[in-house]
This record gives sequence, C-alpha cells and structure tokens, in this order.
Amino acid sequence: SPRVGVLSLQGDVREHVRVLTVLGADVSLIRRPGELASIDGLVLPGGESSVIDKLARAFGMQQPVRAAIAGGMPVYGTCAGMILLADDITDGIAGQETFGGLDVTVRRNAFGSQVDSFETDLDVPALGAPPVHAAFIRAPLVEAVGEGVDVLASLDDGRVVAVQQGGLLATAFHPEVTGEHRFHALFLDLVRGR
Ligand code: GLN
Repeated sequence: SPRVGVLSLQGDVREHVRVLTVLGADVSLIRRPGELASIDGLVLPGGESSVIDKLARAFGMQQPVRAAIAGGMPVYGTCAGMILLADDITDGIAGQETFGGLDVTVRRNAFGSQVDSFETDLDVPALGAPPVHAAFIRAPLVEAVGEGVDVLASLDDGRVVAVQQGGLLATAFHPEVTGEHRFHALFLDLVRGR
C-alpha cells in the first residue's frame, strides 16, 4: 500500500488520516525533516496557512518540503494546504511564505470571514458522477493558473477551486470533512504512479 504522510503541524490532520486509511494507505504523521524519507506522498491539511508556514519554518521543515516537491513527490493540499502549495499568494499575512511548486496565484480568505463559509455541489469531470459535495471554510480561490496547470473544478461563476499540475493536487474546499474520498483516491493514484 502507498506510504503517505500528513504534515502535522496544525490543522485538520485527523480527518485526512481517516480518509487515507479507509482508502488503504499506510499513513504517517510528518513533523520532522527526517520523516519525509519514509513517505512517497504528502498531504498538506486545511487549517491556518500562516500558522503552518510559521511552524514549518520553526521546525526546519520548509526547505525539506520544498526539496521533496522539487524532487517530484506527489502532494495534495486542501484549503490552507492549497495556499501552501501556491507559488504566489495575495492577502497573506505580513511575511507569509509558501512551499510553492504549484504554478498558481491563490487569494487567501477570498470569500470573506468564517461566517461566509458555505457548501455546494461541484461538477468535477475528472472524477465523473456524482458531483462533489464541497465545504468551503474561510476558503481561498485560485486567481491565476500557469500553462501547465489543469483546472479540475470551478464554481458556477467560473472561479477556480480545484487544480492539478502533474503530481500536485489542490482544492480550495475540504473533501476530508464531507465524506468525499475521490480526491484522496486520485492523490493515491498519483503516488502509485510514481
Ligand atoms: N483561511 C485559512 C488560511 O488562510 C484557510 C482555511 C482552511 O483551511 N479552512 O490558511
């Protein structure tokens, strides 16, 4: 079974572990640089991207995660995790950095504050039927995508909320909290395909 890790500095780590375990993955919690050597794929959870960024730098994880991404490790980021994968962000806190690797610009808190969280059904052609029931919680939006980036899902008004670039997958919403397993299954396919 694929060996995958969930970056466990802050955020909804347990929800990801549960989905990945149900799908048959061998899942570890990743907090230290040395732990990256034992996995073939990494999940960046939802939470607060500025906090995860600060902790990643404090724990010496920023450069090792960047190196893993540059080395081709498949990574799936949800919400805060999408922000952390983006090459560029707008509306970050002062000095906020990302791991990067995904050639997109992401706007943090694009829908407003916590009270502007919402759920909706999304057509995701890459996943087929039925539509994905998606929870947006202080969610980001993808404002610009580079040439090598595939758009997997958009809102009715065209705003982009799920993307893939090779082994990098990112959703502005949280499949791990709505019982939606197909994005994690796609991520595990990317890990197996390496
Ligand atoms: N707004 C959060 C951030 O900036 C993301 C929210 C989430 O992951 N649900 O990281």
